[in-house]
Amino acid sequence: MNRADIAVVGGGIVGAVVTHELAAAYPGADIVVLERGLAGLGASSRSAGVHFPRGATERVRAMTAYSHRYWRELAAELDLPLRAIDAVVVAPADRRDAVRTIYIRLGRETTAADPARGRPAPIGMTAWTLPGCHYADVGAVAQRILTTLRGRVAVWEGSEVVTLQRGEDTCLVLRHGAELRARRVVLCPGPWIAHPAWAKLLAPLDLRVKKIVAAHLEAVPDEDHPLTVFHDEDAFLLPVHHRGHLLFSYTCDVWDVSPDTVAPGLGPADLDDARTVLARYAPELAERCRSGRAFCDAYSPQREPVVAELGPGLVFAGAAGGSGYRLAPAIAADTLARLDSASAIPSLQRLPRR
Ligand SMILES: Cc1cc2nc3c(=O)[nH]c(=O)nc-3n(C[C@H](O)[C@H](O)[C@H](O)COP(=O)(O)OP(=O)(O)OC[C@H]3O[C@@H](n4cnc5c(N)ncnc54)[C@H](O)[C@@H]3O)c2cc1C
Repeated sequence: MNRADIAVVGGGIVGAVVTHELAAAYPGADIVVLERGLAGLGASSRSAGVHFPRGATERVRAMTAYSHRYWRELAAELDLPLRAIDAVVVAPADRRDAVRTIYIRLGRETTAADPARGRPAPIGMTAWTLPGCHYADVGAVAQRILTTLRGRVAVWEGSEVVTLQRGEDTCLVLRHGAELRARRVVLCPGPWIAHPAWAKLLAPLDLRVKKIVAAHLEAVPDEDHPLTVFHDEDAFLLPVHHRGHLLFSYTCDVWDVSPDTVAPGLGPADLDDARTVLARYAPELAERCRSGRAFCDAYSPQREPVVAELGPGLVFAGAAGGSGYRLAPAIAADTLARLDSASAIPSLQRLPRR
């Protein structure tokens, strides 16, 4: 029987950041990450990886501000593949007040929204500069974080948890037959919320899985191409420099999909939707939407991330609803706070939070 003080299930960006924080907070603890595939290759590998300092609710704005500082510091510490980017937000002029509330540190008003280089904001719309944005190759960031932890933390890839048995410790049975007994377990399964090992435990949280799509444009971005956020459409146009194309992310309202069966690319209806939305702002770019990526993410009824204690020493962390990259640090901080409050489990030696 294998034993650990703490097991983290899921090696995506949430699991990686949670593990990083656990390793820092509990230097003496045996920590094992269990990942059914390879780390970073779930939803995280499909992510656009945009961080913009905004939040629809006070809690998400606080999480954003925390995560913003965290990513800046960790990127410097681990040399993570993050790229700072100039950004503008485009919204109807009469929504000024709402926009100012939602975006933290919104910059000056400008007439030049820039989806197609120097394009003015459409009639009736205003643009604002939005300092403090970056984007990242999220799968690579998750892998880098876990790679730096190797030696300190065990990372078992190809290790799907098939059964979770609750007792004084939690016993995790893996598909390849091994078992791991852990005093504390953090579930970070991304969109795999319906896995039979924990579906019943998560049912009270009323989580659902929504498809997320992003079109790829046949257009090579200039070095200084900005990120443009179309506020009312919940859409953005991003230059993905390390892949050599523009990406247009827009809202897709298809619910209750499965991460095991969702098609990885866009269907004809997805492409039509992408072109229709983009044509409102940059008609000449709309026709360049030729392909794209599709996957999914878990969402909560409140449209806020969930960190929930499912039982003594067993915590779920995720359901970030399409914002799991940018909010992962704050999700991790909440997770550690939950584990600390799990009083039924003897406390591990915990260092003060940095
Ligand atoms: C197209 C797209 C664009 C996006 N754009 C953005 C964006 O711009 N900004 C942003 O912040 N967010 C964005 N997101 C959302 C973000 O990518 C996700 O919220 C985030 O990646 C979720 O991370 P995670 O670690 O929770 O999930 P995942 O990365 O899916 O990791 C979960 C891991 O758990 C593993 N797992 C599942 N079941 C088991 C099991 N039984 N045993 C062991 N391991 C298991 C999986 O293999 C997986 O690796 C986007 C998502 C998509 C799909």
